[in-house]
Amino acid sequence: MSQILDALSPLDRQAVDKFREYLRIPTVHPDIDYEPCIKFLEQYARDLGIPVKVYRNIPTKPVAVFKWEGKESGLSTIMLNGHMDVVPVYRDKWTYEPFGAEIDDKGYIYGRGAQDMKWISILYLEAIRRLKLDGVVPKRTVYVFFVPDEEYGELGLREFVKTKEFRNLNIGFGLDEGDSSPNDSYIAYYGEKSCWQFTIHCPGQTGHASLILKNTAGEKVRYLVDKFSDFRRTEEKKLEDDSSLKLWDVTSVNLTQLGGGVQPNVVPEELTLTYDVRISPGTNVKDLERKINRWCKEAGDGIWLEYYEKEAQRPITVLENSPYWSALAKVAEKRKINLEKKVCLGATDVRFLREMHIPAIGISPMRFTKPLAHDHDECVNVRAFLEGLQFYYDLLPELANV
Ligand SMILES: [Zn+2]
Repeated sequence: MSQILDALSPLDRQAVDKFREYLRIPTVHPDIDYEPCIKFLEQYARDLGIPVKVYRNIPTKPVAVFKWEGKESGLSTIMLNGHMDVVPVYRDKWTYEPFGAEIDDKGYIYGRGAQDMKWISILYLEAIRRLKLDGVVPKRTVYVFFVPDEEYGELGLREFVKTKEFRNLNIGFGLDEGDSSPNDSYIAYYGEKSCWQFTIHCPGQTGHASLILKNTAGEKVRYLVDKFSDFRRTEEKKLEDDSSLKLWDVTSVNLTQLGGGVQPNVVPEELTLTYDVRISPGTNVKDLERKINRWCKEAGDGIWLEYYEKEAQRPITVLENSPYWSALAKVAEKRKINLEKKVCLGATDVRFLREMHIPAIGISPMRFTKPLAHDHDECVNVRAFLEGLQFYYDLLPELANV
């Protein structure tokens, strides 16, 4: 056993023990049974002395919400969000048992969900435990959410935000996960790109490949590839011309698949182009869609689009003049931690809050840490874990007293 654990204070030890207990519950896709996790949370609530309510609007997808009650019940509340589910593992690639929460002699705790994102959920609750022990009563009520199916599926927070039970919680601001940072800063995500993936079907006149036929699929493809490539180049040039712009300030366009044809001497009946487009938050998606439809029309007859992913415009959280952002920045400054403002290239549950016009930030208070979400041997060092705990201990009263 690790000497590192023996050296911890009783409160730190308790936090680490809770984290390891949570890691051992295999809330892993597919077909997750959330009930053992809910049992763990109900016991946890009794232990903390705060209530937890389990919403079962979708019986197999429970949402557990802890309530740390504020003094002023009329005010909007703070939501701390965490997903219970984790992605599958390649067991043979792990040095440690993925649901064993083993600790090595350098203090690394291993387990699926260690970074994504079971550690954060435990930090929320353990910060509240300490604040309660210190007699702190927040002004605004703070809710800690444990939600299902963030990694996979449609029935997690996406559905819960649409319920009247959610509306009744009167959330005014939300925190969710971000990414761990390999350098000395914390990353604060205030927006996300929207993802579109689609195949363009280009039908055309088929026939013998020795002829020069009209209305061929190949000519349509050529027109479209030019249009998309020109657009891609325009976005790329924006980055080259202005060094202050980041990848999320522009829209990425990539041709990811080409399909069609039967054999070399037959002009194909259809060719297909598949694109992946990640739209910057500043882009008007309706304009983009009109542009794509126009190109398809111009390219020739019969072209049609098949969408696999077509996300709506994603609102960003405006940080200027936000008292919640100021609270976050104040705590980071106090703790001498640099905050890096970014737009997330992927997607987390935080987007469902922004879609409900609730300002929200995605942050994982973990630095000097190799990001290992979804990777083999996912782990967190005890020191990083306890630093994160200190961060929430300082942050929660600031947010709740806005
Ligand atoms: Zn996650």
